[in-house]
Amino acid sequence: MPIYEYACPSCAHQFEFLVLRGQEPSDCPKCGAAPIERRLSLPAIKSDVTHAKAMAAAKRRDAAQGKDRAHEQLKYELSHDD
Ligand SMILES: [Zn+2]
Repeated sequence: MPIYEYACPSCAHQFEFLVLRGQEPSDCPKCGAAPIERRLSLPAIKSDVTHAKAMAAAKRRDAAQGKDRAHEQLKYELSHDD
């Protein structure tokens, strides 16, 4: 049974999902955004790409909502990603 890594393009939330019968997650379990992106297993580049996208997402969200707290939460998650 394959377990894939997914990343939300909206809030940069990352999670693993056990795919049964090809049923992949349709939206983010954290913010509900869709569609979800399945992450490729490329450890050499995933960090830079993920962080760049996460920071871009965080800036967009901060600008849209003006919530510093959300940004702090994102940084907390990123610091525990690797
Ligand atoms: Zn999300």
